[in-house]
Amino acid sequence: MNSTPTPDLPIERIPHPSPLPTEERERIMASPGFGRHFTDHMVVIRWKRGAGWGTASLQPYQPFTLDPATSALHYGQAIFEGFKAYAQPDGSICTFRPDAHAQRLNLSAQRLAMPGLPPGAFTALTDALIQADRQWVPRGDEGALYLRPMMLATEVGLGVRPSSEYLFAVIASPAGAYFRGGAAPVNLWVCTDHVRAAPGGTGAAKCAGNYASSLVAQAEAEKHGCDQVLWLDATEHRFVEEMGGMNVFFVRRVGAAVTLFTPALDSGTILPGVTRASILELARHAGYQVEERRVALTELLEGIEVGTVSEAFACGTAATIVPIGTFTSSAGSWKIEPPGSNSVAATLRKQLLDIQFGRVADRWGWRHRVC
Ligand SMILES: *Cc1c(COP(=O)(O)O)cnc(C)c1O
Repeated sequence: MNSTPTPDLPIERIPHPSPLPTEERERIMASPGFGRHFTDHMVVIRWKRGAGWGTASLQPYQPFTLDPATSALHYGQAIFEGFKAYAQPDGSICTFRPDAHAQRLNLSAQRLAMPGLPPGAFTALTDALIQADRQWVPRGDEGALYLRPMMLATEVGLGVRPSSEYLFAVIASPAGAYFRGGAAPVNLWVCTDHVRAAPGGTGAAKCAGNYASSLVAQAEAEKHGCDQVLWLDATEHRFVEEMGGMNVFFVRRVGAAVTLFTPALDSGTILPGVTRASILELARHAGYQVEERRVALTELLEGIEVGTVSEAFACGTAATIVPIGTFTSSAGSWKIEPPGSNSVAATLRKQLLDIQFGRVADRWGWRHRVC
């Protein structure tokens, strides 16, 4: 859907009359967890058919008032993004690849018949929020400020059609290191009762509904003593797609040759992760063989049995890279031996974090300086 271009984006600024006192903020920042505390401000901008995007407002964090007949509550036109702002060694703050997240938001919007944001708006609005709440960006210990942009349909009425009004908002939440003391391997339940995404569906869009339909499978995984769901393709239940809300990679070692392989995106059923894309770039640069293709579950399990599949890991903004320990299905359980500290996963994880936290040169232009 077309958006009305907004040439220069005016932002109305309404500072919080009573931001959280420093001591309270510091208490939260000492152990923020994930997605539990929110900063003093938020950004809101509204779209109306015919008029396009209105004036953005940076305002105190507060609840929305929604009519019970608000379209998003009934028919699920709701999409979101997730990315982070990182404190840099020189005291500045950078986000990681905001342009890639802006682009993906607009692709999600297109799939759900929602308007895209005009070029530059995503970064201008998220920058404004980060600047206002820069005290909330964790320093040290690999914490970061998690940004959650979202868009939802706000037309009031029960007619089933694309809404004529939308709201785009951005909130921010300080996040601690996702896994303190290094990531413990996660154990996966191979899900065959449910699917996350089918060809022609919304799997490649970051929409709320994808998560709603995944929760019952997550509960099933936990019932089987596992941490997360491994999703298979909807048609044959043979090919690996994603882990929960993260993309997956596998490592094959034959002699000295190391190959990274990951499910290809061309089925349209896999969320195109920015972390995934970045890892592919880093891996090629590091000289690993890289394959994007279909990955059969049997290939993986046989590879684990004979020892050629030496690592499996999941990746996403929230947790960066997490090793996978076991695959469990109704047929049995397959365990990957912990690969140790010089694993491919640990090497790539360090490279990615070093770029995000400004500890190495930004070879690919992925850091965006906010303030
Ligand atoms: C957000 C998300 C990812 C990871 O994307 P990143 O851009 O790397 O954070 C992977 N899978 C699903 C289903 C997601 O929603």
